[in-house]
Amino acid sequence: KKIIVVGSSHGGYEAVQQVLQDAPDAEIQWYEKGSFLSFLSCGMQLYLEGVVKDVNSVRYATEEGESAKGVHVFTQQEVVSVAATRYSVHVVDHATGDERDESYDRLILSPGAVPASIPVEGNDLANIYAMRGRDWAIKLKAATVNPDINDVVIIGAGYIGIEAAEVFAKAGKRVTVIEMQSRVLAAYLDSEFTDILADTLSEHGITPATGQRVQRFEGVDGKIARVVTDKATYPADLVIESAGVRANTDWLDGVVERDEHGLIVVDDHQATSVADIYAVGDATEVRFAPTGGKAHIALATNARRQGRIAARNALGEDVSFTPVSGSSALSVFEYKFASTGIKEYTASDYGVTAKSVFVGDLYRPPFVPDDAGNAPVYFKLTYAPEDGRVLGAQIMSTQNVTANINTIALAIQLHATVQDLAYADFFFQPGLNRPWSIINIAAQQAARGIG
Ligand code: FAD
Repeated sequence: KKIIVVGSSHGGYEAVQQVLQDAPDAEIQWYEKGSFLSFLSCGMQLYLEGVVKDVNSVRYATEEGESAKGVHVFTQQEVVSVAATRYSVHVVDHATGDERDESYDRLILSPGAVPASIPVEGNDLANIYAMRGRDWAIKLKAATVNPDINDVVIIGAGYIGIEAAEVFAKAGKRVTVIEMQSRVLAAYLDSEFTDILADTLSEHGITPATGQRVQRFEGVDGKIARVVTDKATYPADLVIESAGVRANTDWLDGVVERDEHGLIVVDDHQATSVADIYAVGDATEVRFAPTGGKAHIALATNARRQGRIAARNALGEDVSFTPVSGSSALSVFEYKFASTGIKEYTASDYGVTAKSVFVGDLYRPPFVPDDAGNAPVYFKLTYAPEDGRVLGAQIMSTQNVTANINTIALAIQLHATVQDLAYADFFFQPGLNRPWSIINIAAQQAARGIG
């Protein structure tokens, strides 16, 4: 069999590894239109802050390594169109300008997404950047040490915007984060958490400019100089747009079915509307465990799981994607948070009636002093009021308690209830936690209200 995989990021990588594992004799052609294979945007903050020194190390596969495994790797080669009836793709080699057709038996697409540009006047000015991929990483790194850049305005206070804000605040710049919603990180955390984080950002010199919409960018000599919102004007030597992504699928117009956002429509086998073409990653939706419906949750974790499932089905198995809950985590200066599933704030977006309990506790028993690693922990558990089914949770502390959220993600996946969690067997050791896990405590409170 000849399998063509398009895109060398998380989804494409996993598809290739699965084919190597299950069909070592298959011919694999792996295409990346950029010059660099498998850059890891998730690791970009560590590079920009100088924790990781070499931009070229922020990856998980090399051409040499994959070629040694027998994969035919093509970088700077773009798959520009698909002739599905002929089972062939058209490839442009950007290094040489050559073009050719390649046949396939199975085609796995992981073309991903690109940062969305805000459609306002002035968005073509110089020094308006994005934070995704190796090329932007290199430009952003240069900006962190550029003495002419003092005022940095970030558009969008999702996790990428907050990562960017932290990078540039640590680099000594004045940072403003403009966000349409009334809170930072609103899709990830409810206000009990974001109120604390907004204070933390301010303490570190970042201005959260929430509840505002960008109206235009103003420039001087072709370069960004000011960002004008419906509430204020902010000086800017650099703007970073991190207000969502756009699926990289225009080249598939008329080939596979796409939705109104340009996302490739796939079933739970990652199959597209066209036989023997599969799609995964940020260019697709996933099955959302709390509701059973579809959702667009652009995470590497999802792309990786989808890549595995797509390859297995492409090779003749019959396996479905395990529904996910959008579990994610982030550190914001001294705080570390994680969340999964539905929040009080997002419940109505999903058409779900939800109830929540919020618990503030200590990481370890009260007799353990702070300087020995004790600290407050905040936890919120969200559930269906009629039957106690677990729908989501959020956790935050200066200690790293984020992994608790994986337990909740599994509870959602298995349709567990708060009654199931109330007395679930979680360990206790005073060096590590409290006699009752914070999940037990919250679930016991929640279970009291359910008949
Ligand atoms: P993408 O990563 O979008 O890559 C698609 C690739 O395909 C690109 O390299 C592109 O050049 C190539 N391509 C596209 N079309 C063609 C074509 N026609 N021919 C050839 N090549 C093509 N997720 C997490 O789970 N955890 C994190 O901590 C996290 N942190 C992040 C931090 C940042 C700053 C960013 C930007 C994202 C982060 N993500 C994180 C999200 C994660 O990076 C994405 O969900 C993931 O990269 C999606 O993978 P993908 O395979 O769908 O495609």
